[in-house]
Amino acid sequence: MLFKTPDGMHDMLPEDAEYWISFEHAARETFADYGFRPIQTPMIERTDLFVRGIGEATDVVGKEMYRVLSDTNLENLLKGEKLKDSSRLSLRPEGTAGVVRSVVQHNLVPQGAPPVKLTYSGPMFRAERPQKGRYRQFYQIGVECLGSDAPTIDAEAIIMLIRFFERVGFPKNDILLLINSMGDDSCRPAYREKLRQFEEQHIDGFCDSCKERIQTNPLRTFDCKNEGCRTIMADAPKIREHLCDDCTAHYDRVKELLDLAGIRYREDDTLVRGLDYYTRTVFEIQLGEGSNAIGGGGRYDKLAQEISGSTKESDLIPGFGFALGFERCKEALMERGIVTLPGKSTDLFVACASPDARVAVFEIAQRCRDEYIDCEIDHQDRSLKSQFKLADKLGARFVAIVGDEELTQNAVKLRNMETHEEQLVSLTDLETTLEELL
Ligand code: AMP
Repeated sequence: MLFKTPDGMHDMLPEDAEYWISFEHAARETFADYGFRPIQTPMIERTDLFVRGIGEATDVVGKEMYRVLSDTNLENLLKGEKLKDSSRLSLRPEGTAGVVRSVVQHNLVPQGAPPVKLTYSGPMFRAERPQKGRYRQFYQIGVECLGSDAPTIDAEAIIMLIRFFERVGFPKNDILLLINSMGDDSCRPAYREKLRQFEEQHIDGFCDSCKERIQTNPLRTFDCKNEGCRTIMADAPKIREHLCDDCTAHYDRVKELLDLAGIRYREDDTLVRGLDYYTRTVFEIQLGEGSNAIGGGGRYDKLAQEISGSTKESDLIPGFGFALGFERCKEALMERGIVTLPGKSTDLFVACASPDARVAVFEIAQRCRDEYIDCEIDHQDRSLKSQFKLADKLGARFVAIVGDEELTQNAVKLRNMETHEEQLVSLTDLETTLEELL
């Protein structure tokens, strides 16, 4: 075997791909009920979009981005030339930055307009260490709602995601919603400093990565899985106690709306999310205690300004969004026996019982397909017996046999594969007979 999928990447084989399509369709339908319309943005964007948007100090941007170079640009780089900004490109590690760029570029939220609600789906790329539930190319479905900072937007989107998870089959009781507020520009800087001072007092107890994080992104130490770091962080000051009045009121309203909708949640002071752009509400959904998150997101009121480069108050486009990971959802559903990937089944197999019937078999199959009857034929000159075996393997419900006798009678012998009953059906009646039987 000369070539296999690159490390951390996987093929979506037909059953998987069929499931992905139906999963994506269910998401589109659920989100459409809440007014979300589809958008697709390029898989490659300017590297600086992610650096500015997601933040240089995040793992995603700092360590996990796949850079994209044309041959010419690679040669130029190797010659020591500097790349133009427009040639510094990366594969998208997430969907939000691209969608927000698109909203700003095409002015999708003009002054006074209602919020724009968008949903996207497709592959994302992160050069992470591959392990179960963590891939280098994985598929996300996400939504972004831009143009309002109202807490109703946050609550509506969270409720919508939970409804989607229920729709695809996750038992209500397994869905664990964790929420927190990250504050905003008026309260987070002071909290960040207080946290950094606390962490510096305990610096010797932290792992090497956390020691680095304390300088660049002190909130990220909450994410560390190391026992020593976790013990220290259990006593760290919590952002909830340092929120300004506006952020507290916003957070309280979100919780009130979730309560009204009967959504259970747990407030988690350590939930800080990996990307820098979040402000105020952040949330994650897990299936049971301590499992990998299957989805999450939050509010990003400053991201559009960060991306447009404008500091004007009028260019502020507050936003809220989330993304869910297809592979993790599918694995969790399969582990619970909720999803077994569907095998392909065929309505009709047209079997050829005589070399003279080949063209007729081809034509009959074509006519049936034109009437949306799912149909298959043999392409390898198999014997009638092995065509029946193939029909069985394909799960065909009926087999239409065409031999010399049927050719002269302008008919097929139609066999019900379950009851084994056979009837002669004239070609003119074949489609209508099948439509009645299927
Ligand atoms: P994030 O963009 O990091 O907030 O992730 C949103 C969701 O995408 C997560 O909850 C996961 O379900 C999924 N996800 C993130 N990173 C990966 C990965 N490397 N492999 C598979 N799924 C992922």
